[in-house]
Amino acid sequence: MPELPEAETIKRDLAKEIIGQTLKGVTVYDARILGNNSVKNFVSQITNCRIVNVLRRGKAIIIECKKTGGSQRGPQTQWLVIQLRMTGLLLYGEDLKKRNVRDVKVVFELSGGRHLNYCDQRVFGRLYVVRDFNDNPYLKTLGPEPLNGSFEIKRISEQFHRRTIPVKTLLMDQHVIAGIGNIYASEILFSARLNPQKRSNQLTRKEIQSVYNAIHTVLNEAIVHRGTSIRNYRDIYGHKGNFLIRLKVYGRQDQPCPECRSPIKRLFQSGRSTFFCEECQK
Ligand SMILES: [Zn+2]
Repeated sequence: MPELPEAETIKRDLAKEIIGQTLKGVTVYDARILGNNSVKNFVSQITNCRIVNVLRRGKAIIIECKKTGGSQRGPQTQWLVIQLRMTGLLLYGEDLKKRNVRDVKVVFELSGGRHLNYCDQRVFGRLYVVRDFNDNPYLKTLGPEPLNGSFEIKRISEQFHRRTIPVKTLLMDQHVIAGIGNIYASEILFSARLNPQKRSNQLTRKEIQSVYNAIHTVLNEAIVHRGTSIRNYRDIYGHKGNFLIRLKVYGRQDQPCPECRSPIKRLFQSGRSTFFCEECQK
């Protein structure tokens, strides 16, 4: 599942490719992707929109558009919110439906002559059009962006002190911090040398500082290497991320810890796998 570094990679590449183009048309091949919206309404919302920006919030990609024509109040800003969830992919280039690529759910035709394909094998992803971020339940309740200047240690310290859930579970709570999922939660706690089972409210100031620093280090490094491709994730050009070989604990059960050589352990927390080193993470 794409987390913040993968979504950020997609956002940066898309911004380079599509800002300034107009969405000339859209074909929806699977209406489940639109949630409660109808195909007819979605097509009319999107057609003839000029793309002015590409943003990211948490794990979502947001295409900011100006809808031209039809309104006396001039161009109206609206956002196409793309939640990739488990197996969603955005692929830029030719129309993949014409090449019989599997799992193509939506194809956007761009004024530059190229296409943006939304593919989704398991169909958990969603595309929404909103006029206000508060109209989207995911965006409305998201916590602060960890790589943005407004992410303050004071604020997360308060969250840690109030909660008794394990620190790894807290890191993955999207209301507390936006964008961290299962892979990076394990990597952040290894980098911070902290046991993932430790209760959030039992962390010392120094330990919270270590987690805070590790969030920045790990996420930024993963962005530099264009994210992690475990199974499904690809960038908009169809290429894998390069961070997989740089993972220190995630998916490395029984392999030697890169620091102390003792075997990496795996445990289950809230139904998800956690990987850690018992010797390095106390
Ligand atoms: Zn170790």
